[in-house]
Amino acid sequence: MTAFGDMVDPFGRRIDYLRVSVTDRCDFRCVYCMAEDMTFLPKRDLLSLEELDRLCTVFVEKGVKKLRLTGGEPLVRKNIMQLIKSLSRHLKTGALEELTLTTNGSQLERFAHELAEFGVKRVNVSVDTLDPQKFHEVTRWGHLDRVLRGIDAALDAGLAVKLNAVALRGFNERELPEMMRWAHGRGMDMTVIETMPLGEIDGDRTSQYLPLSELRSQLENQFTLEDIPFKTGGPARYVQVKETGGRLGFITPLTHNFCESCNRVRITCTGTLFMCLGQEDAADLRAPLRASEGNTLLSQAIDEAILRKPKGHDFVIDRTTRQPAVSRHMSVTGG
Ligand code: SAM
Ligand code: SF4
Repeated sequence: MTAFGDMVDPFGRRIDYLRVSVTDRCDFRCVYCMAEDMTFLPKRDLLSLEELDRLCTVFVEKGVKKLRLTGGEPLVRKNIMQLIKSLSRHLKTGALEELTLTTNGSQLERFAHELAEFGVKRVNVSVDTLDPQKFHEVTRWGHLDRVLRGIDAALDAGLAVKLNAVALRGFNERELPEMMRWAHGRGMDMTVIETMPLGEIDGDRTSQYLPLSELRSQLENQFTLEDIPFKTGGPARYVQVKETGGRLGFITPLTHNFCESCNRVRITCTGTLFMCLGQEDAADLRAPLRASEGNTLLSQAIDEAILRKPKGHDFVIDRTTRQPAVSRHMSVTGG
């Protein structure tokens, strides 16, 4: 039993995974994620690092075992290592089992060793292509060589690295088998993700959407894929690839709904709690956080919100309306 009592939603799902978007800002502008001239939140609306720490700590006391920092780009938040260092105390006590992050890798060269020092064991690095020109195209502002140096630094620091690639029709569809060989050859798992209709972007998402069922059939022409029960606490379903000896995960919010086993909630950098990535309902935790020095109000607000966790999302990539299913960007809620 934890200090405030565990979090269990109305469908009996135990919430033990928290994803925290520590900033909505980013040094890239990936075409499927953001518009090029994004308007970010005013800095005064952001929770301070101390407040983020307090919020995460209450979640840990309420049974969260796995904490993932994301964004925006988590490693561009000023003094982010202070937060990571501070949160690592929960690893030492054993209250928290895993502290990890999802990053675009641009700052990893600088931070990889410190991350390892603070108890981070693995990181997810998002890379959609290994072609420098195409990389610059899809991220608009990113440079592949820098990200690759970041990955090298992470491996050198002893971190397990998982490569995340969004599957984009006509963009990296043909390259994915080669990327997988590259990742597996370096001892990294890889996960492919379907594009999700989150937030207004400049382009048209329907043309980018590549159902992973289709990708899987394509891969099966070249590789032997064996379904395995491997789990990392996230929604990916894994296969073992016989020819490479590595693991490939599929995250398929559109072709296969994974909500029935959902164990997670998300908070934004302003302290808004989203009980589901694909639904608008949210709870403000910043007000109860700031209303008193104790955590009782905060804990109550979290309990009330968990009781409203919906059964699932209903994403569709809709060719007729072309509207995003959810208006906020992935960089706000955190991917
Ligand atoms: N900046 C970090 C990064 O790129 O890894 C962390 C935040 S990013 C929002 C987290 C993940 O979400 C990335 O792997 C990114 O490719 C993915 N992502 C962003 N927008 C998406 C969308 N509309 N559909 C599917 N995945 C998306
Ligand atoms: Fe930034 Fe990550 Fe979004 Fe790309 S996917 S724009 S790196 S937050």
